[in-house]
Amino acid sequence: MHDLSVSELSRGLAQGEYSSEELTRALLTRIEQAGAGLNAFVTVDADGALAAARAADARRQAGEAGPLDGIPLAHKDIFCTRGLRTSCGSRMLDNFVAPYDATVVERLAAAGMVMLGKTNMDEFAMGSSNETSFYGPVRNPWDQTRVPGGSSGGSAAAVAARLTPVATGTDTGGSIRQPAALCGVTGIKPTYGRVSRWGMIAFASSLDQGGVFARSAEDAAMVLGAMSGFDSRDSTSVEQAVPDYTATLDQPLKGLKVGLPKEFFGEGLEPGVREAVDAALAVLSEQGAELREVSLPNLALSVPTYYVIAPAECSSNLSRYDGVRFGYRCDNPRDLEDMYKRSRGEGFGDEVQRRILVGTYALSAGYYDAYYLKAQQCRRLISDDFRRVFEEVDVLAGPTAPEAAFALGERADDPVRMYLSDINTLAVNLAGLPGMSVPAGFADKLPVGLQLIGNYFDEGRLLGIAHQFQQHSDWHRQAPADFA
Ligand code: GLN
Repeated sequence: MHDLSVSELSRGLAQGEYSSEELTRALLTRIEQAGAGLNAFVTVDADGALAAARAADARRQAGEAGPLDGIPLAHKDIFCTRGLRTSCGSRMLDNFVAPYDATVVERLAAAGMVMLGKTNMDEFAMGSSNETSFYGPVRNPWDQTRVPGGSSGGSAAAVAARLTPVATGTDTGGSIRQPAALCGVTGIKPTYGRVSRWGMIAFASSLDQGGVFARSAEDAAMVLGAMSGFDSRDSTSVEQAVPDYTATLDQPLKGLKVGLPKEFFGEGLEPGVREAVDAALAVLSEQGAELREVSLPNLALSVPTYYVIAPAECSSNLSRYDGVRFGYRCDNPRDLEDMYKRSRGEGFGDEVQRRILVGTYALSAGYYDAYYLKAQQCRRLISDDFRRVFEEVDVLAGPTAPEAAFALGERADDPVRMYLSDINTLAVNLAGLPGMSVPAGFADKLPVGLQLIGNYFDEGRLLGIAHQFQQHSDWHRQAPADFA
């Protein structure tokens, strides 16, 4: 059962081949046994999952079940879940139990989905390898000496290892697409404002966006549809109807104009990744897509721009964790100042503290114009590049990450090198565009992702292209040897 897609499970449940309770039990056992060494979950909620599964079975008996009813999923541990710890991968929130569900959690529960648990992640979603988690790194199911990518590494690894058919994630600079690529699964980050951020713990509010990991574009389409849409509790949520993403999956690729940003194919691109991506592009072309080279001349600005804006926003968002209102408080503080200093010093890990320091500096009087304002201007240049190319082409394509999964520990002490893992994904968040990663083969036995970038609110088109690609390739069906 663990290898079935969401649509297959939906059919199996509808035809009574198994109950949601049986399915949920099977996956809970698999998480405990096959998944034991991966560290993909921070919390498994067996009792809650079984209760939700039984409720789904009862709805089905009563003839009230929708297409996602009774299907298990996992949430990144950044989404607040009522009554179940939400740690955000941090010691700071190790004891935090939210009194409410995030909108995403609420909507998927309303669709009948069964939450298995909460997945491991980089601390406060800051990282590209899952190594900054307070709960230790996640291992890549394809090679357990390697990272799964980050920050949503637990979700990506859990879907790849067939511990859950789908999992949620968030993407501030690549945290859905990069781990999807490194773990060989399908991941989509929709347009900024498409999915509500309410109850999704904030890292960099102007960049954060929720999305989903699945084993196929079709599965991602089903779940993204259920989690998207306007939410009055998120002021940046966009009031625009959500199309049925499954209805446009069969659109042929004939005549589709695909731009290949030449900046994605330059220096630093691993040859094995390039070969796999070229082969994937050839499949699109055989299906009638027209490929043409385009340029995003300001792309090189995206790393420095992101690493001013994201830390600036995080320094503001994370100021609430002070040992008083939320989170960890140090033992036996001498006085108030000692309490603040030690609570934050002990509660946050090194990477989070580094970002808070950088962000506070960039926002300080006297430096604001030189850093934050300048970064906002660069952000505009980057968005304008995309606006210009989308006058010429329908979508963009290229490698999601320049390299396949790297070794655990290899970059943990080299932040700048780590930051460069997201060189192909950051600009998409700066512009607020939708992007996805689709399994596109292997480089040295490690998965490679093809990134597709669309114009605003064109996630339906991205999912359709990915689906067509998946009709003509079987990379997405391959499972890591230890998890088949
Ligand atoms: N790796 C990037 C960072 O560390 C992006 C993370 C994300 O998208 N949450 O900030």
